[in-house]
Amino acid sequence: MASWIAELQEIVGREDVLTDPERLLAYECDGLSIHKHPPAAVVFPESAEEVVGIVKVLWRHRVPFLARGAGTGLSGGAVAVEGGVILELARMNHILEIDYANRLAVVEPGVINLMLTRAVADAGYFYAPDPSSQMACTLGGNVAENAGGPHCLKYGMTVHHVLGLDVVLPNGEVVTLGGHGTDAVGYDLLGLFVGSEGTFGIVTKITVRLTRQPQAVKTLLADFLSVEDTSRAVSAIIAAGILPSALEMMDRATIEAVEASVYAAGLPTDAAAVLLIELDGLAASVEHEAERIVELCRTNGARQVIVARDEAERARLWAGRKGAFGALGRISPDLMVQDAVIPRSTLPEVLPEVYRIAARYGLRMANVFHAGDGNLHPNICFDGRDSDEVRRVKEACREIMELCVRVGGTLTGEHGIGLDKIAYMPLVFTDDDLEAMARVRAVFDPEGLCNPGKVLPVRRCRAF
Ligand SMILES: Cc1cc2nc3c(=O)[nH]c(=O)nc-3n(C[C@H](O)[C@H](O)[C@H](O)COP(=O)(O)OP(=O)(O)OC[C@H]3O[C@@H](n4cnc5c(N)ncnc54)[C@H](O)[C@@H]3O)c2cc1C
Repeated sequence: MASWIAELQEIVGREDVLTDPERLLAYECDGLSIHKHPPAAVVFPESAEEVVGIVKVLWRHRVPFLARGAGTGLSGGAVAVEGGVILELARMNHILEIDYANRLAVVEPGVINLMLTRAVADAGYFYAPDPSSQMACTLGGNVAENAGGPHCLKYGMTVHHVLGLDVVLPNGEVVTLGGHGTDAVGYDLLGLFVGSEGTFGIVTKITVRLTRQPQAVKTLLADFLSVEDTSRAVSAIIAAGILPSALEMMDRATIEAVEASVYAAGLPTDAAAVLLIELDGLAASVEHEAERIVELCRTNGARQVIVARDEAERARLWAGRKGAFGALGRISPDLMVQDAVIPRSTLPEVLPEVYRIAARYGLRMANVFHAGDGNLHPNICFDGRDSDEVRRVKEACREIMELCVRVGGTLTGEHGIGLDKIAYMPLVFTDDDLEAMARVRAVFDPEGLCNPGKVLPVRRCRAF
């Protein structure tokens, strides 16, 4: 047994250091099962002090490591690609402080996203970034990935809601970035850290902004007979100067999967696609904008636009949308959830091409995504045991990425580069860009021990 394992056991106890290969299997991948690499060990710290102790041991022994929240990531970010140690932070799940006067909360990184909103709901607040995985993913994982969600169209991504972080750097040193919301002076290291995909250090405390619940909410469902019309309606709504709080698209394959699952929401299975549109704000303006949206959807070919009658119907529609990946997951042993972003106005030309790519590779694909943000999530159902199908999935994904970049988009809207998209980085960055990023990373992690093998490609024995 490596001496560092004994040292980790001294910090957290023998029971809380997993090394049995069978138990490590649960940590061999995250939500993207196409990348599998079992770690050498998994350790379960319960406090920031334990995280510091663990990181210092691993740094001294030059053992690579990474943090893991709920493992719902969809870019292979929480996978120990070099067989290092996973610090599983799920037990650091306490809400430490709620301060309504300053509209903020201080939490540990393992707090589940939805739990924070539930904790402040009775007082009339919510935590705005709401990934569809919000009933499982952690706020630490959200910070690392700069997570988005349906309502980020209006409210902004995670980075817009994080005020401060306590971080354990890869050498075990503790730093505080940002604070309690007063304008920081100096370089915006907090902004730099959010979205660094676990490569700059481990977050042990997060201060987030709380948002006041809106006075009124209205949820609409518009259904269309072609995806091109659906895409055009998205652009028309935004071009009309309306900013819905959410503007989500689900295509027929997704609708069918949802309706055949426990998330069935009464979606029309004969539609080519639906838009789930939510408006919030002052009651009078919500009412007026809803009328405009019905009009715009009809002009762009909507067959029907319904308005959720009550909270129960609204909740059902959202359960259908947020359960869509889960519903698709029932179809085949594995699901590749891709993530790219394109200029919204190119949706009508890009989406049909994405279907053509899948058809050319003989793959089954469904699309569900934050259309208002220009986000794209082509989901490919496949069987990871079939090596030819895996090859076709990878080739189709590359073509989709090339297409998105060609129309002015980029490689990820919210899931991060992780391990999955490393090979595509040269599609958008030059060698000089990548080298500049590697230099920034080296400021935080000069030894390259923290979540190695992610974000930046390694070529010619040189890590960019
Ligand atoms: C069904 C489903 C729906 C999803 N919907 C969305 C969506 O709408 N929007 C969206 O943005 N994402 C979505 N995701 C992706 C995923 O949920 C997010 O990326 C989420 O932020 C990951 O959180 P996690 O706790 O599971 O992190 P993990 O998967 O455990 O880790 C993700 C990355 O964060 C790092 N990390 C975790 N904790 C810390 C920490 N404390 N300090 C430093 N680094 C850390 C890890 O090293 C890893 O690189 C979805 C995933 C699923 C399965």
